[in-house]
Amino acid sequence: SSKSTDKLPFDVPDYIDPNYARENATFISLARNEDLWELVPAIRSVEDRFNSKYKYDWVFLNEEPFSVEFKTVMTSLVSGEAKFGLIPKEHWSFPDWIDTDKAAQTREDMKNIIYGSSISYRHMCRFESGFFFHHELMQNYKYYWRVEPSTKLYCDVNFDVFKFMRENNKDYGFTISIHEFEATIKTLWSETKKFVAANPQYVAEDNFMNFISDNNGETYNLCHFWTNFEVANMDFWRGEAYQAYFQHLEKAGGFFYERWGDAPVHSIAASLFLPQDRIHFFEEIGYFHGPYHHCPINDEIRNKNKCMCKPGDDFTWQDYSCTRKYYDVKGLAKPLGWEKHTG
Ligand code: GDP
Ligand code: MN
Repeated sequence: SSKSTDKLPFDVPDYIDPNYARENATFISLARNEDLWELVPAIRSVEDRFNSKYKYDWVFLNEEPFSVEFKTVMTSLVSGEAKFGLIPKEHWSFPDWIDTDKAAQTREDMKNIIYGSSISYRHMCRFESGFFFHHELMQNYKYYWRVEPSTKLYCDVNFDVFKFMRENNKDYGFTISIHEFEATIKTLWSETKKFVAANPQYVAEDNFMNFISDNNGETYNLCHFWTNFEVANMDFWRGEAYQAYFQHLEKAGGFFYERWGDAPVHSIAASLFLPQDRIHFFEEIGYFHGPYHHCPINDEIRNKNKCMCKPGDDFTWQDYSCTRKYYDVKGLAKPLGWEKHTG
């Protein structure tokens, strides 16, 4: 019948040329099967705001096999190809040089700190620090965009983020930066200093040390990029400097003897081993990961991109954020009225 050729009202328009030259890039989500219904709205918002136009692939990783339900639902949501991978055991377990009694004692001692008593959280942080970019499903890609359950995109993203990264020589992009809990990383900075002293050749000339240290590297100021949103070039993680740094941290054992997060690890590495102009703040990408919002305070950006957030909720210019420091160290002009959002 003629009905079958009618365009249904819910047909998604082709926003871009079907022959559009995508970048070598993918989304990536690490998740458990039980994260399914928290991940669904996060993915839907990324698809609605960005990916339905560009159709990049989406890699899902888990240390357990994904359920049929998880795979079916995700495949239906993603406009690019959805791929599901199992994490190899050695990327999600205690390395043999780790003293598991000492690690257990740490979990006992840290039980009053968020995730302090968790084994799985430590495996997760170690995996996100050192292994996701080695997974076989990630090998054919260069750039990735990390998406977590319960996150939201607040604005349309009307440009190809991955193309932006390549064309502007960016290796690391973020939306929220913040201070770390000192108790989780007590020896991360001293281990970093040891590594740098032994390997000074890896430190970039025009680095971003002044973002992570207020005294030229003597102490860490706890600033880091929040890695629950992360757009980056895996060549950096796979490269010699980061590989050597990660191996040093692995041997030091702080993923298990403390509770080192992938966020301070990635951020310290990017700030020391990359020239600072390779690090980028996506001001126009409104984003939420509990409890913090990045809501562009610039009215023009919000209106142009149909943002769905209250600028009064913005975290970016508050004291606990580090993004003000990002602007100051880079010598960038802050958006008009930022002082009104410092509370
Ligand atoms: P938070 O953002 O630091 O509070 O930590 P999350 O609970 O959001 O975990 C960070 C990311 O790792 C999310 O994408 C989670 O879905 C994922 N994740 C956390 N723990 C596990 C785990 O034990 N197994 C798997 N497969 N994914 C996990
Ligand atoms: Mn999270």
